[in-house]
Amino acid sequence: MKSRIFHTQSEEETVALGVKLAAELPAKVVVLLIGNLGAGKTTLAKGIVEGLGAAHPDEVSSPTFTLIHEYGAGVYHIDLYRLDRADQVAGIGLDEILERQAVVLIEWGERFPELMPVERVEIRLRAAAGGDAREISVLVHR
Ligand code: ADP
Ligand code: MG
Repeated sequence: MKSRIFHTQSEEETVALGVKLAAELPAKVVVLLIGNLGAGKTTLAKGIVEGLGAAHPDEVSSPTFTLIHEYGAGVYHIDLYRLDRADQVAGIGLDEILERQAVVLIEWGERFPELMPVERVEIRLRAAAGGDAREISVLVHR
């Protein structure tokens, strides 16, 4: 997967981008979804999960309170927003999940860089002030 920048103008376009990116992901990968609240991290995750054939986008919701959602075999969606400390993250079993042959999507993972594998995909989402436009950059760290 190459490093690139995309632009979307709607929620639907971001879901479609997720579907497209899913086709390029290896079977075992960690994807950090990075951006402010409302940037579109969960929306992009919906598309990735759909593209992987793991669930319908309507079944994908923010794991803000549940912390981890598992879709089908080998797709995890994690949100670390509500966790403050590394030992709390360890408590949800992140280590074990990262060892699995799985696509692991992590919102707010950049808050715990020491817990993330060096080999990972970082997707940064930025909203233009007030509007629906999003700039979405995909960076692969090998
Ligand atoms: P996050 O997980 O980053 O907090 P969400 O994906 O939950 O963000 O929410 C993004 C919000 O922004 C949704 O309400 C969505 O409808 C809206 N939105 C507007 N334009 C876009 C776009 N281009 N891409 C993604 N979401 C968008
Ligand atoms: Mg979210």
